[in-house]
Amino acid sequence: MSTLNIVVLGAGFAGLQSAHYILQHTIPQLPKSDTYHVYLINPSKEFYHMVSAPRSVISDILIDPSIAFMDIAKGFSQYPASNFTFLQASVSSIDTASRALQYTSTEPSVRDGTLHYHALVIATGTAQSSPLFWQTPETKTARQSFRDQLATANNIIIGGGGPVAVEIAGEIGDHLNTRNASKHKATITLLTSASKLLPVLREDVAAHAETYLNSVGVTVRYNAKIAAATTDKSGAHVKLASGEEIHADMYIPAIGAKPNTGFLPNTVLTPSAHIDTNASSLRVDGAGPRVYALGDVSSASPGGILHLTNMIPVVVTNLKRDLEAFAAGKGDQLSGKDMAWVPDVRKSQFVPVGRSKGVGMLFGWKIPSLIVWAIKGRDYMISFGTGYMDGTSMKKEVVWKG
Ligand SMILES: Cc1cc2nc3c(=O)[nH]c(=O)nc-3n(C[C@H](O)[C@H](O)[C@H](O)COP(=O)(O)OP(=O)(O)OC[C@H]3O[C@@H](n4cnc5c(N)ncnc54)[C@H](O)[C@@H]3O)c2cc1C
Repeated sequence: MSTLNIVVLGAGFAGLQSAHYILQHTIPQLPKSDTYHVYLINPSKEFYHMVSAPRSVISDILIDPSIAFMDIAKGFSQYPASNFTFLQASVSSIDTASRALQYTSTEPSVRDGTLHYHALVIATGTAQSSPLFWQTPETKTARQSFRDQLATANNIIIGGGGPVAVEIAGEIGDHLNTRNASKHKATITLLTSASKLLPVLREDVAAHAETYLNSVGVTVRYNAKIAAATTDKSGAHVKLASGEEIHADMYIPAIGAKPNTGFLPNTVLTPSAHIDTNASSLRVDGAGPRVYALGDVSSASPGGILHLTNMIPVVVTNLKRDLEAFAAGKGDQLSGKDMAWVPDVRKSQFVPVGRSKGVGMLFGWKIPSLIVWAIKGRDYMISFGTGYMDGTSMKKEVVWKG
């Protein structure tokens, strides 16, 4: 019998964990389990723990670089080569009719190629506005250049008003202005087009973030929409929509994210370019059977790793049902019920502001700065990184009696 490929696209928080789960729990329970092969495809050989980027970009002393960047193949070395292949490549197109994808190698020893899939999990996430905050071929160079500039910058502009912008502003402010780590202080300005910081959080919680930012020397300017930004030898030139021009030594954009879906036909995308995902089953109904979207790339996700805790069980449970039905010769005629995705819409977000303070909400409740520090600000949750990488975060099997 020919091999049935289960292909996972993207080795971020969603792709890594779902690939581990499928290898640990799904395939061993399927009839003729040796006919399945898992492919994990990702453009970089390392997983970048981007959640900790606002602190790890500043110095290797603050976040251990061997956890900030972890080798993907090593994390999967526990599985036999007959079951698993990591392809360092970028998917360039998918033909949903022939159920095949094209990939472009990003590593000299791997050739470009075509791969047919029996099942597909698309977890390609989003592209951030700066390579500092997501894994790209330029990320390591961008981090070094950021550190070089930070060593002498007197005037720094940060664009954005969401958690990434607030976190990087807080870390830089704390580093330069409170701890005097570079032996010079800097004027740091956060420019946001909105009238408040942190759109997800309550007004009073967001106001607290501004107070903490001020305490590390960061000034917030509201209703300041950035129209364009360029850099040259003399520094950064930021132009506001109002026409005002601002010059600074450094400009750091943290102004949102766009889904990585350029390889998919428009027929399976929403107007915002997310993957049009069934909000209950998490299947991509327009892409044929056994195709799922998981994580930030999915139209069903509110965004954030917290939601993966509930999304991954739905994807792996329904995928297993699909695979069992196919193996039993029932095609996509499933018996019993799918597991349904029910997003937790209560406000939850933790935003450290510097190394000792932070604001946040958990399930709709405001939480004190000390708790934000204990949950996230202490180490930016880097201690969970190894569990995503070696699969220990997926040790527990999901029980579903649908
Ligand atoms: C600075 C920062 C701090 C954050 N802090 C938090 C937090 O505290 N709590 C929280 O819940 N969320 C946080 N987030 C959001 C969180 O990081 C995302 O929700 C999470 O990364 C989404 O995981 P994902 O696997 O869906 O996508 P990603 O982590 O973006 O992974 C997608 C992967 O797919 C790969 N890929 C892209 N295109 C292709 C292609 N064509 N072919 C193959 N592979 C491809 C990418 O290279 C990447 O490795 C933060 C984000 C940032 C940037």
